[in-house]
Amino acid sequence: MSMVAILSGAGISTDSGIPDYRGPNGMWTRDPGAERLVTYGPYMSDPEVRRRSWRMRRDGPGLDARPNAAHRAIAAFESSGHALRVITQNVDGLHQAAGVSERKVLELHGSARAVVCTACHARSSMAEAFARIDAGEDDPDCRACGGILKAATVMFGERLDPVVLGDAMSIAKAAEVFVVVGTSLQVQPAASLAGMAAEHGARLIIVNAEPTPYDPVADEIVREPIGTALPALLDRLR
Ligand code: ZN
Repeated sequence: MSMVAILSGAGISTDSGIPDYRGPNGMWTRDPGAERLVTYGPYMSDPEVRRRSWRMRRDGPGLDARPNAAHRAIAAFESSGHALRVITQNVDGLHQAAGVSERKVLELHGSARAVVCTACHARSSMAEAFARIDAGEDDPDCRACGGILKAATVMFGERLDPVVLGDAMSIAKAAEVFVVVGTSLQVQPAASLAGMAAEHGARLIIVNAEPTPYDPVADEIVREPIGTALPALLDRLR
């Protein structure tokens, strides 16, 4: 059976109340200073940056966000028995929350549902970090070694995990259908996966409100809202 790969970006989660930080009205576009809160160097060297970063995460939609119709349609596509892989630029965990198998989801930019120690690399849950913040800590440290904790996301100034990226490239090359959804394909190297898939013979379908640099090599472009367009598209692919 043909393998369908989906590359998702921020646009698939806006219906779940998660802002597109890089979009035209996004926080990092309107307030470049906010980008420091998720940039590795300042985060590691400045405790005030860390306090503001934790506060931003705690005040955001964070762990309360719920999957929407597009996430659910992808999960339903998998449970109907189709070969599916999801590559996501999102850190919200909503594909898995919708029911897509954990092992079918590659999180290029990590996960905001987990926390990692920058010294000993121990992982713990974001829920636990939030509980410590609610109890009065403003920059919780690693319980194992006292090191600086950060969200398990790829910050600006950090490299993507080469193993995860390698897996994503293999999927792009193997896919028969490669669906880009909710990303304007501006951020490399994630964006280049679309070109790679097309070069290796995949049918490239782009579902995004805005034009992307890969539109010229796409077989199909869908501009309708993701919440209705993606379920309809996946129905058709069945
Ligand atoms: Zn540690």
